[in-house]
Amino acid sequence: MKADLFQAPDYYQIDDLLTEEHKLIRDAARDWVKKEVSPIIEQHAQEATFPKHLLVGLASIGAFGPTIPEAYGGVGLDYISYGLLMQEIERGDSGLRSTASVQSSLVMHPINTYGSEEQKQKYLPKLATGELMGCFGLTEPDHGSNPSGMNSKIVDKGDHYLLNGAKMWISNAPFADIAVVWAKDENGRIKGMIVERSMEGFSTPETHNKWSLRTSATGELIFNDVKVPKENILPGKDGLGAPLGCLDSARYGIAWGAIGAAMDCYDTALRYAKERIQFGKPIAATQLQQKKLAEMITEITKAQLLALRLGQLKNEGRATTAQISMAKRNNVSMALNIAREARQVLGAMGITGDYSIMRHMMNLESVVTYEGTHDIHLLITGMDITGHSAFK
Ligand SMILES: Cc1cc2nc3c(=O)[nH]c(=O)nc-3n(C[C@H](O)[C@H](O)[C@H](O)COP(=O)(O)OP(=O)(O)OC[C@H]3O[C@@H](n4cnc5c(N)ncnc54)[C@H](O)[C@@H]3O)c2cc1C
Repeated sequence: MKADLFQAPDYYQIDDLLTEEHKLIRDAARDWVKKEVSPIIEQHAQEATFPKHLLVGLASIGAFGPTIPEAYGGVGLDYISYGLLMQEIERGDSGLRSTASVQSSLVMHPINTYGSEEQKQKYLPKLATGELMGCFGLTEPDHGSNPSGMNSKIVDKGDHYLLNGAKMWISNAPFADIAVVWAKDENGRIKGMIVERSMEGFSTPETHNKWSLRTSATGELIFNDVKVPKENILPGKDGLGAPLGCLDSARYGIAWGAIGAAMDCYDTALRYAKERIQFGKPIAATQLQQKKLAEMITEITKAQLLALRLGQLKNEGRATTAQISMAKRNNVSMALNIAREARQVLGAMGITGDYSIMRHMMNLESVVTYEGTHDIHLLITGMDITGHSAFK
C-alpha cells in the first residue's frame, strides 16, 4: 500500500459552514485514519480479517455512540459531527465504518431510544468504550428488503420469552457480545430484544468468501430455544417502525460515509493523473481524464451539500425517512460511480492493492445493497412524492 497522501477536496469551501468543534472532531478522526488505518487496512482486506485492535482507537475518536448523551458514556455530539466521523472512517475503509455504524446506530441508538433505564445503564457505557461490541439482527434468509415478513418468533413463557429463528448477513455477528434482535410475538407484533452471547442456544457462524467488506466480520445469528429474560425486551417501542427508526440513523451515517470513500478515490485519481506521463504529457492534461475528474468533483460537492443540509435537518429533528433515503441512495451511487471511473484513471495499477480504489469499489457494492437497496430507496422517494406505494 502506498503512503497515505490524502488531501480532502472542498471545492465549495464547505468547511466555512462547519463549527470549530466539527472541524476538531473531523481532523482528529482524519489523523487517526492516516496513522492507524491506512498502513494496515489493505492487508486485512487481502486476508479478509477484521482489524480488532482498531476498536480501542475507534472508541477514542468518539465513533461509538457520538450522539449518545455523556451520562451514558456517549460523546453528546450533534449529527453533523456524527456524519463527519463516518465520512473520515469510510475514507479509510467502508468495513470499518460499518462496524462503527452498527455499534452507534443499530445497537446504542435502539437501547438509548427504546431501552429501559436499567438497560441503558447496563449496556451503553461499555458499548461506548468498545468493551462490549454489538450487532443488529433484522435480515433473514427469506426476508431482506421485506423485513415485515420475518419468521423469527418469541413465545411468552412467564418470566422469559423463548426465541427461535435465524438472521443472516449480520455485520459484527462473529465477535459481538450482544445482539439487538427483532422477532415477532404470538400476536405477530415485532419486538426488539437484547440477546447476550452467553445465552444457551445462541450461535453466530461466520460468513466467508465475500469479495466486499472483507475487513468487516459478517455472520448469521441462530436462535435455538434461546431463553430471553423479559427485562431484555426493549420496552419503548414495538412494530416495524422500531427497527426502521434505527435504519434511519444508520442510513444517515452512510450518506456521509460514502462521501469519504468517494473523496479518497477522487484524490488518488487526481494525484495519479498529474504524475502519470503517456504520449509525452501527464494524462491529467487530456480532455477525457479531465472530464472524469471534473465530473467526480462536481458529484462530490453536490453530495457534500446534500449531507450537510440533511445534518442540519437532523439536528433540528426535522429530517424525514424519505429525505434520508434520498441522500443514502444518491451518495452511495455517486461514490460507486466515482470508484469505477477512478479505477480506470489508474489503468492497470488501479486493480492492485497498492491503491485503495478497487477496495473502495468492492466495498461500495455492499453499501449500495445494505440498509435498503438502491431500488428500495428509490421506491421510498417515489412513495413520498406520489402518495402511492409501489412495493407490493
Ligand atoms: C455485507 C453486508 C452486511 C450486512 N449487515 C447487516 C446487518 O448488520 N443487519 C441486518 O439486519 N442486515 C444486514 N445486511 C443485509 C442487508 O440489509 C440486505 O442484504 C438488504 O436489505 C437486501 O436484502 P436481500 O439481500 O435479501 O435482497 P432482496 O430483498 O432479496 O432483493 C434482491 C433484489 O430485488 C430488489 N427488490 C426487492 N424488493 C423489490 C421491490 N418491491 N421492487 C423492486 N425491486 C425489489 C432489490 O432492490 C434487490 O436488487 C447486510 C448485507 C450485506 C451484504
